Amino acid sequence: MTVAKRTFDVVVVGAGGAGMRAALALSEAGLKVAVLSKVFPTRSHTVAAQGGIAASLGNVTEDNWHWHMYDTVKGSDYLGDQDAIEFMCRAAPEVVYELEHYGMPFDRLDSGKIYQRPFGGHMQDYGRNPVQRACAAADRTGHALLHTLYQQNVKANTHFFVEWMALDLIRDQDGDVLGVVAMEIETSEVMIFQARATLFATGGAGRIFQASTNAYINTGDGLGMAARAGIPLQDMEFFQFHPTGVYGAGVLISEGVRGEGGYLVNSEGERFMLRYAPTAQDLASRDVVSRAIATEIKEGRGCGPHADHVLLKVDHIGEEVIRQRLPGIRDIAIKFAHVDPVNAPIPVVPTAHYMMGGIPANYHGQVVAPYQTGPEEIVQGFYAVGECACVSVHGANRLGCNSLLDLLVFGREAARQIIEDLERNPHHKPLPADAAERPLARLARLDGQQDGESVGEVGAAMRQAMQTHCGVFRFPELLAEGVVKISAVAERAKNTAIRDRSKVFNTARIEALELDNLIEVAQATMHAAAAREESRGAHARDDFPQRDDSNWLKHSLYFSAGQHLDYKPVRLKPLTVESFPLKMRVY
Ligand SMILES: Cc1cc2nc3c(=O)[nH]c(=O)nc-3n(C[C@H](O)[C@H](O)[C@H](O)COP(=O)(O)OP(=O)(O)OC[C@H]3O[C@@H](n4cnc5c(N)ncnc54)[C@H](O)[C@@H]3O)c2cc1C
Repeated sequence: MTVAKRTFDVVVVGAGGAGMRAALALSEAGLKVAVLSKVFPTRSHTVAAQGGIAASLGNVTEDNWHWHMYDTVKGSDYLGDQDAIEFMCRAAPEVVYELEHYGMPFDRLDSGKIYQRPFGGHMQDYGRNPVQRACAAADRTGHALLHTLYQQNVKANTHFFVEWMALDLIRDQDGDVLGVVAMEIETSEVMIFQARATLFATGGAGRIFQASTNAYINTGDGLGMAARAGIPLQDMEFFQFHPTGVYGAGVLISEGVRGEGGYLVNSEGERFMLRYAPTAQDLASRDVVSRAIATEIKEGRGCGPHADHVLLKVDHIGEEVIRQRLPGIRDIAIKFAHVDPVNAPIPVVPTAHYMMGGIPANYHGQVVAPYQTGPEEIVQGFYAVGECACVSVHGANRLGCNSLLDLLVFGREAARQIIEDLERNPHHKPLPADAAERPLARLARLDGQQDGESVGEVGAAMRQAMQTHCGVFRFPELLAEGVVKISAVAERAKNTAIRDRSKVFNTARIEALELDNLIEVAQATMHAAAAREESRGAHARDDFPQRDDSNWLKHSLYFSAGQHLDYKPVRLKPLTVESFPLKMRVY
């Protein structure tokens, strides 16, 4: 089969905040840029971000990037690379002002400056007092951000390929990345997108879990494609559970609610966070609050007939503040929890939210992958930014509002690096003859398979295995069983069939292709979690409750082929300042 081909300077896969920030800088530099997205750009998951963007503007309370850096290093439970964290925190004010100048409608203070609210783990003076660092547009910050970036990209002539799904990377015999093979969702047309630089910004993979705050499209496609092309996945055991997903629905209730004064109570009406985090209380880091809730529930102080959730009390902050600062949250509570927070507490439970791991990248957005035998190397032509990348600025646990920041800082920086790299590399390398072979074989299998298991059932088995065996607390027997179960599910995924083709549109084929990617992520997460014998950040082992810096201060790398794990050191040295020494983490 001959496959049509289009050629660009840069192909960006993903039109969330990361992809669009990078594409904007690339198009503004005059490069020919294609952006592929499974959904209309402004429907990417970034649109759902509520709380804000972290930057030490100091508009409300005194702040500086060094305190922000300290909070991020501590929040990461010292697994974050301190050079990348310094780079991000220093650039934060600049990328926020840039966004303001692009037209982002931030909330304002009376002085006209950008409004900032408190958030979990954001502190003044190296952890002493809460600080107001989150720059917000009501509780719809991601919405405002994504629309701003989309409009600027339209102006800059970025070429959007809407409802196109990238299927696989093209790598040649030198290991260089030369583009992607993609399929138009509506027509099933397969096309090669040849590029001198390929940037992945495909977002997270929250859909490996049953209960998730993530959109249905967050299926880890970038990670699946990278893994199939021989690139390892880094730090996959670290998956953040957000403390306040709506009980039963999973929809997120932003930490901004606690930033505006909301707090958690158990069935005894006790404000239990005072016991777990005396200083930061309800605004402790997310992993800490999620474990506190899970412990309250485990010890029988959960709310409701099944004692399986806690309550987020907001009514005391007053209808006026709720209307002005949290209008979207009020809508969500009414729609999904059937309570109006103006007069009743919202039932909440920890819910899978954010993937700290991803495709290994340096702070210029270049993918760095060790070959299984040799030293670490930059994969030529391949870049990754946003939630699909592991830079690693979030280490073992991400602080709220640091993801939107990460998209902007590394989206912009990857674009700068690409522009520099393309100057040295003005010609397209020839494509290998088998460029489209892998994705075509995957499609042929799906279309040829007459009877096999339903994609929906296999997907449900995967989500159930992840939820039961790899949750907020991780138990040794459950993890060991989980590894076996997830391998069995992966075998079943090789044998799925699209049933009843007369009724289903192409969505069935898309779901099958997405399942291939989800399975890669799920296996990486389960294997890496079973192997890490310590508790750090979001990874809480029942049998190893302490952090173990002498054995485990290192990043994990999971290789899909052979399901092999390797490790690499954490970069503790920042760019210009002193390292923050390892300390016990208390809030
Ligand atoms: C409910 C919610 C609230 C949040 N609130 C905040 C917050 O207040 N502050 C904060 O800092 N962080 C927040 N986060 C986290 C943050 O929003 C995300 O980490 C971030 O938006 C991810 O952006 P991204 O650009 O990496 O990917 P996304 O915005 O998820 O975009 C991914 C893009 O990739 C495309 N794509 C994926 N696979 C393919 C494929 N195979 N082919 C083509 N296109 C593909 C999709 O179509 C999409 O355009 C929140 C997350 C959630 C879920």
